[in-house]
Amino acid sequence: MKKLTILGSTGSIGTQALEVARKEGYKIIALAASSNVELLETQVREFKPKFVAVENEVAAKVLKIKLSDTDTVVMSGVDGICEIASIDVDIVLNAIVGIAGLRPTLAAIEAKNDVALANKETLVTGGEIVNRAIKKNGVRLLPVDSEHSAIFQSLQGVPEGSISKILLTASGGPFYGKKRDELQNVTRREALKHPNWSMGAKITIDSATLMNKGLEVIEAVHLFHVKPDDIEVLVHRQSIVHSGIELSDGAVIAQLGTPDMKLPIQYAITYPERAGLCGKRLSLADIGTLTFEKPDTDTFRCLPLCVDAIKMGGLKPVAANGANEEAVKLFLEDKIKFLQIAELVEMAICSQEKVNTFTVDDIFEADRAARILVQNNCR
Ligand code: NAD
Ligand code: MG
Repeated sequence: MKKLTILGSTGSIGTQALEVARKEGYKIIALAASSNVELLETQVREFKPKFVAVENEVAAKVLKIKLSDTDTVVMSGVDGICEIASIDVDIVLNAIVGIAGLRPTLAAIEAKNDVALANKETLVTGGEIVNRAIKKNGVRLLPVDSEHSAIFQSLQGVPEGSISKILLTASGGPFYGKKRDELQNVTRREALKHPNWSMGAKITIDSATLMNKGLEVIEAVHLFHVKPDDIEVLVHRQSIVHSGIELSDGAVIAQLGTPDMKLPIQYAITYPERAGLCGKRLSLADIGTLTFEKPDTDTFRCLPLCVDAIKMGGLKPVAANGANEEAVKLFLEDKIKFLQIAELVEMAICSQEKVNTFTVDDIFEADRAARILVQNNCR
């Protein structure tokens, strides 16, 4: 029986991971989330983990009282989450949203735990440091993001050095086909209506701006050790081809499936084995047509901005990510307009000084500076 820790267990990925755990009979050792006490209590009563960590201190106290009749130990804060990430398990699934996922990922790796990574912001902000930690500790980092899982699945059995290009697919989001003047006054409600995937609010907005694809380009650079120019983004409206690779001899290998995150979640846990199906089977005859086109990078500026940021390197991707996290929060509070998100991301990338080497503390300092810059320029 596999032993699992799930960070971000109350979110979209976290709850789907628990569905997979229920189906496969995995033993849940620890759970963590930011504050959703009611759902955490339900999860603890069903899965009986030894530990649960709540980022919010007040929520942790409330949960502790609620769980006083159980054997589950309640921890709190970032330190509590890092501590449970360090408990020896078969795999730690990190489904926290945002840069808040970085320290727990590093804690899991330092404790020699394998990591199934949904939290793309970990690699966007700390890719180099995470890659060094993986090497030093001899652990595996398995992608959960559907595109990166598809690339990883396509790479199985491919000799090292024979990949010539990555094909990163994008749904195009709810505003596909629209031009800048049509996006001036779009609402948070319209932006939250993703055509193919049901996800957390932050990544859904990132999909509408195409920031998500920009973050995924950076994620792919660190996961697969390719150059940004070797990644071709393709808008593929049906979300059936989840991404692929082109090899030196011109062969293209891709992974196809219904848009269901349970498959990439499950594969990251079972790798290299395959478990049973957890959703609907794909019927290509029913789909009929698959289409591919270049993204509109004049309208959706966040994508080329992220590509520029990773090409410049250093802390530029951290600035892009921090500004985006803050801008998305403001957009969800109806405090800024949709197109301002890209403007603020660009401003933060430009303001971030170019550096060659940096520490985890430098990452959090650059993140903070980007957020302050957004706060000061959001009118
Ligand atoms: P979500 O908002 O639904 O859930 C986020 C989870 O993280 C919740 O459990 C929340 O309590 C927890 N959390 C938030 N802030 C935290 C903090 N400061 N400390 C500890 N825990 C905190 O988000 P989601 O859609 O499940 O996405 C999670 C991650 O997976 C993101 O990085 C996202 O980009 C990535 N991802 C999601 C999907 C998807 O289909 N939802 C697909 C690919 C990648
Ligand atoms: Mg994705």
